[in-house]
Amino acid sequence: MSHAPASANATKRRRPAYAGCSAAFMGLASLLGVLCFHFPELLTSREFRQVYTEGFARNLLLVGLVAAFALGTFSLLRGRARRISLLGVGSATLAVLLGGITIQFESIRQTPFSLGLDWFLISLFFSALVFVPIERMLAARPQDVLRPEWRTDLGYFFLSHIGVQFILIAVTASTSLFLSWALYPPLQQAIQALPLWAQFLLAVFVADLFQASLHRAYHAVPWLWRFHAVHHSSTHMDWLAGSRIHLLEIVATRSAVLLPLLWLGFSTEAVNAYVILVGLQAVLAHANLGLRFGWLEYVLVLPRYHHWHHARDPAYAHKNFAIHLPLVDMLMGSFKLPPRAWPGEYGVHDPESVPRGIWRQHLSPFLGSRRTTAPPTQPS
Ligand SMILES: [Zn+2]
Ligand SMILES: [Zn+2]
Repeated sequence: MSHAPASANATKRRRPAYAGCSAAFMGLASLLGVLCFHFPELLTSREFRQVYTEGFARNLLLVGLVAAFALGTFSLLRGRARRISLLGVGSATLAVLLGGITIQFESIRQTPFSLGLDWFLISLFFSALVFVPIERMLAARPQDVLRPEWRTDLGYFFLSHIGVQFILIAVTASTSLFLSWALYPPLQQAIQALPLWAQFLLAVFVADLFQASLHRAYHAVPWLWRFHAVHHSSTHMDWLAGSRIHLLEIVATRSAVLLPLLWLGFSTEAVNAYVILVGLQAVLAHANLGLRFGWLEYVLVLPRYHHWHHARDPAYAHKNFAIHLPLVDMLMGSFKLPPRAWPGEYGVHDPESVPRGIWRQHLSPFLGSRRTTAPPTQPS
């Protein structure tokens, strides 16, 4: 009889302290932001710097510092999560001591390589700002923000953002290698004559066709599955879970998708609009968002569609490969209408086949000792 209150107390004790955790997040992010102001040529990416202004970055840093001090102090006054709250206030204090929002820098020198720490911080801040509240309000299943293996997925988020320039270099190198031949100018001129909205829609369709075909190959070819199994090893779905992708898979997929877009000659604006859409839709498709979208679920890939692709259910293991348009799966014969319910379990068919942790997961496709098996094919 005494078990119920004891476990209730344990659950209560284990509840994360959101104010303290948010303070730590804001404090550490502010500290990293200050480092970006001190070493912009090394820590900020040339490509992403063109998207925002210096004033915007300073205001964002101010918001981070104020939030870290306010939330950390609030949490300390409540006597909760003392250490994590102190981490937030302490790192924000250090950020102020290192210059805060008043740091001045000369014009940024051109360096051959730089990290995308600015891209990581700004992207993480806005993704968390949008998705953490809506996932709490409209969750498909109740789940803590700091659910199991959140550190692993944050590590993937960090790696793919901070290394953005290296990923772009690898993608550009592989695409330009193929683009140097087989160009057919009349086709590219015809595509460029289309209005921008038509180019965008066509680009999304073409990109998804190539992406979904490669995705199907990842599931069908055992040695490719070793890489893709990493993405499927997430047992908890949310906006961060989609970040778990092997770096080689990111480069291969981005190259395979950009190559036809560049070859067909879509305008830079159409390709950029597609890149923004893929960033948003990839995050949205994994989000723990229990909304029903009605007929729109037949037109666009939305959370329930992709969640069933991640289900530990052999009936869906080789279905729904598209990331933009279910139409692409319908054309490829891999469409399977998801049920109204949400999957019971997520993850790979054989959980032991994918190790835990970002570094071991990156090495696992190359190690023969652990057999990574593709999910069993459902007899049709
Ligand atoms: Zn897959
Ligand atoms: Zn996914």
